[in-house]
Amino acid sequence: QKQAEQAAKEQAIEEAIANDQNVAEIGMVKVPPGATVAELAELLGVPASDIVKRLFLLGNPLTLTQSMSDELIELVADDLGREVKVMTKEEENSFTFYDDPADLLPRAPVVTVMGHVDHGKTSLLDAIRHTGVAEGEAGGITQAIGASQVKIGDRTITFIDTPGHETFTAMRARGAKVTDIVILIVAADDGVMPQTVESINHAKAAGVPIIVAVNKIDKPGANPDKVRQELTEYGIIPEEWGGQNMFVNISAKKKIGIDELLETVLLQADVLELKANPNTFASGNVLEAKLDRGRGSVATVLVTRGTLRIGDAIVAGMSYGRIRAMLDPKGRPVKEAKPSDPVEILGLQSVPAAGDEFRVFTEEREARSLAEQRALKARIEEQNRVKHVTLETLFSTMEDAEVKELNLVIKADVQGSIEALQDSLDKMDQSEVRINTIHSAVGAITETDVTLADASNAIIIGFGVRPDAKARAAAEHQGVEIRTYSVIYKAIEEIDAARIGMLKPTEEEHQTGSAEVRDTFKVPKVGIAAGCMVTEGEIGRDDNVRLVRDGIVVFDGKIASLRRYKDDVKSVKAGFECGIGLENFQDIKPGDVIEGYKIVEVARTE
Ligand code: GDP
Repeated sequence: QKQAEQAAKEQAIEEAIANDQNVAEIGMVKVPPGATVAELAELLGVPASDIVKRLFLLGNPLTLTQSMSDELIELVADDLGREVKVMTKEEENSFTFYDDPADLLPRAPVVTVMGHVDHGKTSLLDAIRHTGVAEGEAGGITQAIGASQVKIGDRTITFIDTPGHETFTAMRARGAKVTDIVILIVAADDGVMPQTVESINHAKAAGVPIIVAVNKIDKPGANPDKVRQELTEYGIIPEEWGGQNMFVNISAKKKIGIDELLETVLLQADVLELKANPNTFASGNVLEAKLDRGRGSVATVLVTRGTLRIGDAIVAGMSYGRIRAMLDPKGRPVKEAKPSDPVEILGLQSVPAAGDEFRVFTEEREARSLAEQRALKARIEEQNRVKHVTLETLFSTMEDAEVKELNLVIKADVQGSIEALQDSLDKMDQSEVRINTIHSAVGAITETDVTLADASNAIIIGFGVRPDAKARAAAEHQGVEIRTYSVIYKAIEEIDAARIGMLKPTEEEHQTGSAEVRDTFKVPKVGIAAGCMVTEGEIGRDDNVRLVRDGIVVFDGKIASLRRYKDDVKSVKAGFECGIGLENFQDIKPGDVIEGYKIVEVARTE
């Protein structure tokens, strides 16, 4: 009888696949890796106590908030007579649909241009757009949407025009991998710059091949070979030197080398053998979306599979609707879009987010119900958000995990600190936990760093630098840990301790308040004092304080005097002005931020 049941189930799965249904809809439950006991209970729709009991009987007592290994998840589900599949968000996206290899046809590569500001991203995209227009189409090159396409002979390349690694990584954080190839643009008169490195790290973290366009070769000071040399330090090595990366010298301004660059993209695409099934219901990702006064919700989407048509009922993230109209990258109305085609669509009821997956349903009713389910799930997820790894939980997380690695994003005040820290990390015993620095750079901790850490489950280490307000908010929202240090050995000590699960009761920093320096003036005995406005919380006379200038900590110490008008006061609350003098520190400037904090001893929770 069991066999008959199994056969029936397998047939149902096959049918579902044939009908393009989500496999999950017919009984197989998708579980993210590292799900906690409570999460698994919710996904399976059983009381958590049932799972706790079974875990206990299996000799693995766990509490509700502890996460489970893949094996354990499968074991418990099996025990409950349920079928589960443990998969990451990315796997989930590719798993949902099944295509017979025979149905797959070649598709155009999707390319993103990244690089340091002013190195020529915009100019390159412009130059490329003109290339495609040569055949008597000129004049009508108003770019309507955040993507474009060029034709080279009978082949097409799609460019995503929202340059910048932020968008790129924000999409990846949502499980969307839309870019096949990254063109890294580096100005030959400027060389490798901070955002060049950032771009490399973002592309590498996503596992996307990099083609280097060495730009501005028309300039007198241009030295393309120096760029090649500099990039080797970051593991970007030209093919002619035995490496993996194709390089092309170009001038975006003088339109030199553009054709060769496009040919190179096609070569790289050939290596990747990009394919998709065009003859099915469409699915893909939202590239950008906005609310337009006249037209309502307007979304630019990239089709990754199937053919999208006017009249289709679709779900994009938490919004749904029926496609009223579609525009191609030149703003011309089109009736359908195929894999790798970007189109602007009208007809969604609300505005989806960049990176959201979209897919077509046969019935609008189904689309609506999925959108509503997702909205509900998002609310639940928001409530029990999955925390990222932290130094404190590193060891217990590692015990369950298959891959034992610690990803770090390191930001510091000077390059020397990064090198010193990296040096010590390299010397650490990595036999049990591999330590990967996925990005390091000089400067304040920014929102981009948090996005990268979020997408890569990394911890951010700040060394003599602080997160800005946006970064702090993002980190809190995404559950990304930021640890800041002022001495290297302390950072090393803690990472080392976390690695072996011995992180001692930690001293935790509690922010008390923050004040903006509006003005400075001389005060007898104190020297230079700052006229401040407290913008957040409350600054206390006995608090420790940091003076932060452009995200860099320039002073860390005590307050020498805290006054309101002429009176010494104990503390000043947000919304009030005050005068602050710092102990043995005079170099205060308008625009600086004074952050107050207290050190509190926190016992470890486990
Ligand atoms: P983005 O910030 O990376 O988008 O850079 P832009 O495309 O805006 O280019 C920055 C500046 O560099 C502009 O003034 C461009 O005119 C100039 N530029 C871009 N490409 C070239 C080039 O190939 N040669 C020269 N001489 N200037 C260029």
